[in-house]
Amino acid sequence: MNFKKLSTQVIERIAPSPTGGLHLGHVYSAFTAYQNAKNNQGLFKLRIEDIDYTRCKLNFEKEIISNLSWLGISWDGQIMRQRNRKKTYASAIEQLLKDGLLYPCSCTRTDIKKAVSAPHTDENTNITYPGTCRRNRPTKSVKALRLDIGKAIKMCGFKKVSFFEKESIDNNFSGEQSILTSMIEHQFGDLVIARKDINTSYNLAVVIDDAAQMVTHVTRGNDLRAITPIQVLLQRLLCLPTPIYHHHKLLFEPTGKKISKRSFPDTVSSFKTRGFTPNDVIAMAFNL
Ligand SMILES: [Zn+2]
Repeated sequence: MNFKKLSTQVIERIAPSPTGGLHLGHVYSAFTAYQNAKNNQGLFKLRIEDIDYTRCKLNFEKEIISNLSWLGISWDGQIMRQRNRKKTYASAIEQLLKDGLLYPCSCTRTDIKKAVSAPHTDENTNITYPGTCRRNRPTKSVKALRLDIGKAIKMCGFKKVSFFEKESIDNNFSGEQSILTSMIEHQFGDLVIARKDINTSYNLAVVIDDAAQMVTHVTRGNDLRAITPIQVLLQRLLCLPTPIYHHHKLLFEPTGKKISKRSFPDTVSSFKTRGFTPNDVIAMAFNL
């Protein structure tokens, strides 16, 4: 396989979804990435992750862009918008189909729950897809294309999926983290690569877009750490480079809950309206 190489220049990115305004978690993530880019004379890219048209809103996109500028963050080049990249995702799906790595699935959530043996069935746990439609062609209408993960791992021709991870913002690697492929298989099962309604998935779009923006360093919250091996696997299958990952701590409210759009309604816009300065907001994010 012919892998593309990472640029020697540091290229960081922020990729917010316009499903709400910016909250302090975004501010922390954005500044951590931005500072790493600036400290290394690198570039900083902005991407709007709006593939899920059922949840994204244009007014949130405008709010996010104007608040980033208000906070003093500037980005290099054009803003990438996932809604303009459907053809690119479609050709990657075409390639994976040609390689025999995807199969159609017609299962609903209820079907999957029924197929999984009772002891594992729990409303609050993520259920691994049991591979129903891999074994038997679906007879109902197709809801998604799934990755045959066992086949994908074999096709990559390696026994382990490994990636570099940075624990701190300087350029010292904490070391290589290797994750056994059997663990990936067990943990994720055959993942959805293309949802029928949006013709792609978060994981597929992210790896394609990171490569298109030539991202060398991905700075993001620890909640996305678990999914990283899957993204690395997709990079291998599509001959894309693997960036260096820096998964930072998640911010917590005084109550101990993780800060998110839902749990912490105070957005950058609301702080701005109440007279806070950009520095106040940044300091708040870094002192939580
Ligand atoms: Zn299925």
